[in-house]
Amino acid sequence: MTESIPLVDLQAQYAAIHSEVDGAIRRVVESAQFIMGPDVAAFEADYAAWCDVPHCVGVGSGTAALELALRALGVGAGDEVVTVAHTFIATAEAISAVGAKPAFVDIDPLTYTLDSDAFAAAITPRTRAVIPVHLYGQPADMTRIEAIAEQHGIATVEDAAQAHGATWAGTTVGAFGDAACFSFYPGKNLGAYGDAGAVTTRHEAVAAQVRLLRNHGRRSKYLHDQVGFGHRMDTLQAAILRAKLPHLAGWTTARRRLAARYTALLENSGVVLPYVAPAADPVWHLYVIRTPERDGMIAELARQGIGAGVHYPVPLHLQPAYADLGYQAGSLPVTETVAATCVSLPLYPEMTDGQQDRVVAAVRQFVEARDPV
Ligand SMILES: *Cc1c(COP(=O)(O)O)cnc(C)c1O
Repeated sequence: MTESIPLVDLQAQYAAIHSEVDGAIRRVVESAQFIMGPDVAAFEADYAAWCDVPHCVGVGSGTAALELALRALGVGAGDEVVTVAHTFIATAEAISAVGAKPAFVDIDPLTYTLDSDAFAAAITPRTRAVIPVHLYGQPADMTRIEAIAEQHGIATVEDAAQAHGATWAGTTVGAFGDAACFSFYPGKNLGAYGDAGAVTTRHEAVAAQVRLLRNHGRRSKYLHDQVGFGHRMDTLQAAILRAKLPHLAGWTTARRRLAARYTALLENSGVVLPYVAPAADPVWHLYVIRTPERDGMIAELARQGIGAGVHYPVPLHLQPAYADLGYQAGSLPVTETVAATCVSLPLYPEMTDGQQDRVVAAVRQFVEARDPV
């Protein structure tokens, strides 16, 4: 029996760092400061420095980060927020949660991130914000997106949930626009052991407003300036994230090496490989190839014990939850093509070359059997 290869392997990561993580957990449990303990502010300072951005506010999840960032920027009922349909639904849920309407636009056929021309074309008098998503760890074209947003007086909120440490034109994501949102969902490049997220921003006022909103609009224990939310980052998660953060650069280096190796080994194999824009330095949350025989390939990989994924098979404009927005199949053609053909191959920092060779061989065999040259 050959050993199976998962899409991500969190157990391998824990095995490598368990003493540091266990120490952090024990420290919090012994202190009993489970809510807003000192690790939260300490992690915020560490993570802000890591992203080279002045402010970081820890919150309960990436979804909460998106919602609070939009609220802090004053986005609400009657507003439109431009974003992509090729993303996890949380990007759009945050827009809906504040009472605004998602305006879905197509993606660039090479980078699979927000098409900036489509963004410019979608702007109406009601447009209040744009949320570019750095999907798969590939930064969106922040130079053009920021320029268009500034020209129209629209706020920019990065969805950086998959892109911790990625850079665009030398600047780390999280430091563009008005605010950026990170997820520390366990499988993300920096993952907690439960739900956690953060908003980073260059603007003191935005950080202050997110800080207020995440903790019941509270100025002090019994005084609430605003109607807020219970969206605090848990102290245990902050302590775990602090223990893991010093490893993130090394994990990213490992991801980049494995991604380059996939690209070298899969060249001329008949699948579409990821494209990296000249200004981008991605962090490879996922390594996504495309093939017209997507479902067959996933089934064959599964048969060989290889856990491939699909991110994401049903674009948001065609989700039942967004049927009331009235989009039809065919309205976002690039998004729909990518959704129908994308395959996420296993990728995690601890992956061995031997494991990767097995994935590559399985992909090549599948394509050659289908498409003999
Ligand atoms: C994971 C993710 C989110 C949501 O983050 P949670 O921490 O799971 O709430 C939002 N956007 C994208 C692109 C994501 O991948």
